[in-house]
Amino acid sequence: MDKVLIIDASRVTAYFIKMTLELADFECDTAYNLEDAAKMIKQNKYFVGLSSLVYEGHESGDGIDLLVNNGIPAIVVTASLDEDQLQAIQNKNIVDYVLKKTEYSEYIVRIVKRVYNNRRIKVMVVDDSITIRHWISDILQRQGLTVLDAESGEDACKVFEQNPDIRLILTDYTMPGMDGRELTAKLRVTHHMDELSIIVLSSDEDTRTAPLFLKTGANDFIHKSASVEEILCRVNSNLEMLELLEESRMRANKDYLTGIWNRRYFFEYAEPLFLDLEESGRKLAIVMLDIDYFKNVNDTYGHDVGDLVLKGFSARLSDYFDSVGLSARFGGEEFTVIVEDVDPEELEEFVDGFREIIEGYSISHRGNTIKFTVSLGVSTNSSLGLDALINRADALLYEAKTSGRNKVVCEIV
Ligand code: GH3
Ligand code: MG
Ligand code: MG
Repeated sequence: MDKVLIIDASRVTAYFIKMTLELADFECDTAYNLEDAAKMIKQNKYFVGLSSLVYEGHESGDGIDLLVNNGIPAIVVTASLDEDQLQAIQNKNIVDYVLKKTEYSEYIVRIVKRVYNNRRIKVMVVDDSITIRHWISDILQRQGLTVLDAESGEDACKVFEQNPDIRLILTDYTMPGMDGRELTAKLRVTHHMDELSIIVLSSDEDTRTAPLFLKTGANDFIHKSASVEEILCRVNSNLEMLELLEESRMRANKDYLTGIWNRRYFFEYAEPLFLDLEESGRKLAIVMLDIDYFKNVNDTYGHDVGDLVLKGFSARLSDYFDSVGLSARFGGEEFTVIVEDVDPEELEEFVDGFREIIEGYSISHRGNTIKFTVSLGVSTNSSLGLDALINRADALLYEAKTSGRNKVVCEIV
């Protein structure tokens, strides 16, 4: 991971910021004068820099210029700010400013995290005025975001089609051709508010305009007279909101103990694959797995060791199968895999390869070596539909259990 550069003539302040950021897992270098900072910038890669304004023998703001001129997003750290100073630093293309006060420590972490995450985020600015497009793009770029632009609604649709990973769109309202409202309505048909954020920027004075947009599906509405600081605050809080939603979505889809996909997500993923099965000519298989005599592990070593077995098993399962399909914990010590990319003729051998891996695997716990095996049922009878195919594979798993365990029973149709 790239590092954070902290420049401050006060060792106490530099130390305080370093401690604050290291607690949030950021690696930091510190410099106490601009000469050292310049040397460090030559030798290292920094994704963000924090600098105070005043250094002996330098003009106010030279530390910021040093960062910005080297392409490093810059955050100003200052003891106080009057209006003139605020104006002066805001003309310098900074990411943000923070005050040297302990109550700001949480904000420092938040803004550094923002710049760090922004490096992977694409945004689009849509406006028919090239001046405004450049002005906004510039503000966003200095936050470390990747910025694309478009001069009309139609153009925006094209750019979006080529860059479906765009997460946030800042659009003007009035444009020739497709305007901001039509663009918002069109994008909302395919992209929900929790995966694509749309912010409308307009100079329209009509008090009905903002609610009109919000009802059309815009996430936010900003008046063009807003300060750069306000625009940034809103962009940042919209991006943070997307990340929080993404995180909670992931949590809802993952099994709490093992971290692999859960049953709910398995169906969400697998069901659509069966919808166009005939046209696509795809061959799908379901593998049902159940750990053998797992109750014995719990009874002999305790429930916690049982949990370790489930975690170790799950990690190997997704390692082995997730490049050819998707694996999930179905419940207890039962798992399932949908296999999309293995030739049916090679399927039995491929699945047996996993059985062998588990046979050779063991967990060490307090001097004990715990070994276990798994039984598997496999069916490729995908014309049955998903639910019946799962039942079929489960019946074959039952055969594997009753005929001795630690084996694969496979039906290729
Ligand atoms: P078989 O070979 O027939 O599958 O025998 P088994 O002992 O593996 O199967 P059985 O269904 O009798 O027992 C499954 C056990 O799994 C019982 C249950 O307490 C345990 N179990 C289910 N979920 C968890 C879990 O999250 N953690 C732990 N440690 N145990 C679990
Ligand atoms: Mg079992
Ligand atoms: Mg069971």
